[in-house]
Amino acid sequence: MKIPKNRENDYLPGAVKARVDFLAKKNRCTIEYLHKSSIDPELTRGNIEQLIGFSQVPVGVIGPLKINGEHASGNFYVPMSTTEGALISSYNRGARAINLSGGVNVVVTRDEIQRAPYFVLENVFKAKEFTKWVGENFPRIQEAAERTTRYGKLLRMHSYIQGRIVYLRLHFSTGYAMGMNMITKASQAVCKFISEHFPIISYTIESNMAVDKKPAHINTILGRGKSVTAEALFNERVISKFMRTTAKEIDLAYRRQVTGAQLAGVLGSNGHVANGVAALFLACGQDMANISESCVGYIYTEVIGKDLYVSLNMPSLVIGTVGGGVSLPTQKECLQIIGCHGEGKALKFAEIIAATIMAGEISLAASIVAGDFVQAHEKFGRNRPG
Ligand code: NAP
Repeated sequence: MKIPKNRENDYLPGAVKARVDFLAKKNRCTIEYLHKSSIDPELTRGNIEQLIGFSQVPVGVIGPLKINGEHASGNFYVPMSTTEGALISSYNRGARAINLSGGVNVVVTRDEIQRAPYFVLENVFKAKEFTKWVGENFPRIQEAAERTTRYGKLLRMHSYIQGRIVYLRLHFSTGYAMGMNMITKASQAVCKFISEHFPIISYTIESNMAVDKKPAHINTILGRGKSVTAEALFNERVISKFMRTTAKEIDLAYRRQVTGAQLAGVLGSNGHVANGVAALFLACGQDMANISESCVGYIYTEVIGKDLYVSLNMPSLVIGTVGGGVSLPTQKECLQIIGCHGEGKALKFAEIIAATIMAGEISLAASIVAGDFVQAHEKFGRNRPG
C-alpha cells in the first residue's frame, strides 16, 4: 500500500492527518502526539516531504555564559535540545565556572565549505595536463560557479591525482548560509564548464572527498565550515570550590584520556563535544548529519601556576544562520535567543557553539576526576521503565 499523498498540496493539515491515520490503522497503534503541533505544515515546505508531524524534543537553557569573542561578546543564555538527563545541568555548571574565571575567549579562524567532483581523463598524461589547465583557467571556472549564486564565492581548488582520475576539491565561502545546496549547484556549473572546454571522458559531481557528513582527517587539517578555537583560564579557587578537584588532576586526567583516545583510534580528542553540538544543532535548525564532522574537537590543557588553561579547537563546524532549517518556527526562536538568526550572524553562532562546548568539556572532566559522574546521572539522567 502506498503512503497517502495529496497531489495538489501535500502540506495541508488534512494531507498530514491522512498519513497519520494510514500508519495508525496499518500498524494498529495510536498516534496521538506526532501531528499535533501549533506549527502550520505549510512552513515545512522545502525542509521535508511526506510530513507526518514533529519530533518534539525537549529544549533546555544554560547560562549566563560569558563569551569574549570577535563576533559574540557578552553574556548569553544558550538553548540546547536533548533527551539526555544531566546534560543541561552539566553545561550550566561549566558556564558558571567559565564566568567566575573571566569568560571564554573565542575566534573563528577559517570559514569555507567544499564540494569535490572527480573527472576521468584518458590517461595519466591527460590527468596531469588537466590539473595544469584548471589552474590556469581558475578565473573562468570561478565565473561559471559564481553565476549560480549571489553569495557563494569559489575561493580556490586543490587537485588530487589518482592515475587517470582527478579529484578537484572546490573551496567556497557561502555568506551566512551553511551552503551545501548553494555550492552543489555552483559545482555542477563548474563541472559543466570544464567538460565543455577540456576533453574529459566523464565527471561525477561528488567524489566523497568533500567530505560532507563524515568525520575525516582532511576536514580537520584543511577545515570545513567554520574552524573555531577557544580558550579559558580556570581559576584555582573556582576549580576547588565548584568542582571539588584541582587543575593538576584535571590536566593529568585529560592527558591520559588523550592517550586512551589515540589507542582507540578516535579522530579528535575531547570528552563529549558531540553532546553540545547535537543539542545546539537540534535546537537551532542545523543539518543534524553534519554533526559527524562538526563534533571533531581537540582539547589541550596546561597548568599555569595553580590555574588550569584549557584550549579547544573545532576545525569543521558546519553551520549557517540563513537557509536550511533555521527559519522553521522553534529553530528560529532558539537562534533569536542567542541573537543569531539571519544575515551577519554565522560567525557569532560559531563562537557561541565553541564557548558552549568549552563549558561542557570542563564540567565533564571535573565530574569524572571528582568522582561525581555516576551520581549526577543517577540524580538527573535516568528513566527506568516503571
Ligand atoms: P539553502 O536554503 O538551500 O540556500 C540558501 C539561500 O539563501 C540561497 O538561495 C541564497 O541565495 C540565500 N541567501 C540570502 N541571503 C543570504 C546570505 N546573506 N548568505 C547566504 N545565502 C543567502 O541553504 P544552503 O545553506 O545552500 O544549504 C543548506 C541545506 O542544504 C540544508 O538544508 C542541508 O540539509 C542541505 N544539504 C544539501 C546538500 C546537497 O548536496 N545539496 C548536502 C548536504 C546538505 P543564492 O540563491 O543567491 O545563493
